[in-house]
Amino acid sequence: MKKIPVVIVSGFLGSGKTSFLQIMIEQCIENKLKPGVVLNELSEENVEDHLFSGNPLYEILGGCICCTLKSSLKQVFEELLTKQAHTPIDILFIEGTGVANPLELKNVVIRDEFKKYFEFHSLVTLVDASNFLDFKSILWTSKNERELMRQQIISADLICVNKTDLVKQVKLDKVIAKLNEDVQSSAIILKTTHAAIPLSTILRLKTDKGNENVIKHPVHHSGIKAVQLKGIKNIERQTFIDWFNNQPDLLRAKGIITFKEDKQFYSFQYAANQLAISPVRFNRDPIIVLIGNGTKIENLKEDFIEKVDSRKLVN
Ligand SMILES: [Zn+2]
Repeated sequence: MKKIPVVIVSGFLGSGKTSFLQIMIEQCIENKLKPGVVLNELSEENVEDHLFSGNPLYEILGGCICCTLKSSLKQVFEELLTKQAHTPIDILFIEGTGVANPLELKNVVIRDEFKKYFEFHSLVTLVDASNFLDFKSILWTSKNERELMRQQIISADLICVNKTDLVKQVKLDKVIAKLNEDVQSSAIILKTTHAAIPLSTILRLKTDKGNENVIKHPVHHSGIKAVQLKGIKNIERQTFIDWFNNQPDLLRAKGIITFKEDKQFYSFQYAANQLAISPVRFNRDPIIVLIGNGTKIENLKEDFIEKVDSRKLVN
C-alpha cells in the first residue's frame, strides 16, 4: 500500500489555517487528488463546518490533539485506514488548534504503529502579519504562548506570512526580520493574502527529515481554553462591536450571530484587537466561541452576557 502523505498545518490563533485548508481542498480536487482533512478545535462545536461541506472531514473537538486529545487523533487514523480500502484519500491535512505544538502532532504521525501507512510530508505554519508583533509582545501573550509560537515557526518547512494586505511595508519588513530569528535555514517564507498558496508549492516541499523525532522540550498550554455561548439572539450591532474594543484578555473569538437590526446571519472573527463581521447565506443556531486564558476567559464570558446579551440566557 502506498503511504498517505501528511501535511501538518499550524499557526497561532486566527492566522488563517482554515482559509489555507479550503484553498488546498479546492486545488486538490482540481488536480484530481482526493484530500482528507483532520480538523481540531478547542471549542465543543466547530462554527466553521459549513466551509467544508461535501469534503471528507474528521473533526476532533473540545480540546487539543497535541496534548489532551492525542488518543482521539489515533482513533481518527485507525478509522481513516479502515476507510482507505473503499474511499481512499491521496493526501491528508491535519490542522491543529491555534495553540498546538505541531511537533507533538508529527510525533503521532511517525509512531511505529502508523508509519507503515502514513508518511510525514511537511509542516506549514501560518502567521498573521497584522498581529504577529502584538502576539510576540509581553503585553498580549504569556511566556508559554510565545514559546509555542516560536516552536510553530522553528519547526515549519514553509511559513506563510498571511494577511499582508492589512499591513504597511515597514511593518511587514519587521515581521519578516522577527521570523528570521527563528526559522530553519531550509524553510521557505511566502507572503500571502487569504492564505492563497499554490498546491504545487506545498507538494514540492517534501523534506527528507521526515521521520526524525525532533521534539526535545515540549511546551504545553493547559491554560488556554475555549468557552461557548449559545442561544443568544438579536444582539445590538454597535453594542457587540463596542464590546470587542479593548479586550486584552481575549486571544481569539469566532462564531455565527444575528443582529437585532436586520435579523440576518453573520459570521465573525476576532484576533488581536481586530473584529471582522461578514454576512453568511445559511441559518444555524447562533454560537459564540471565546478563547483565552483559564479564569480570565470565564470572566469575559460573564462580561459578555452582562453587557451584550440582553436576555441573559446561555447554555
Ligand atoms: Zn495541545
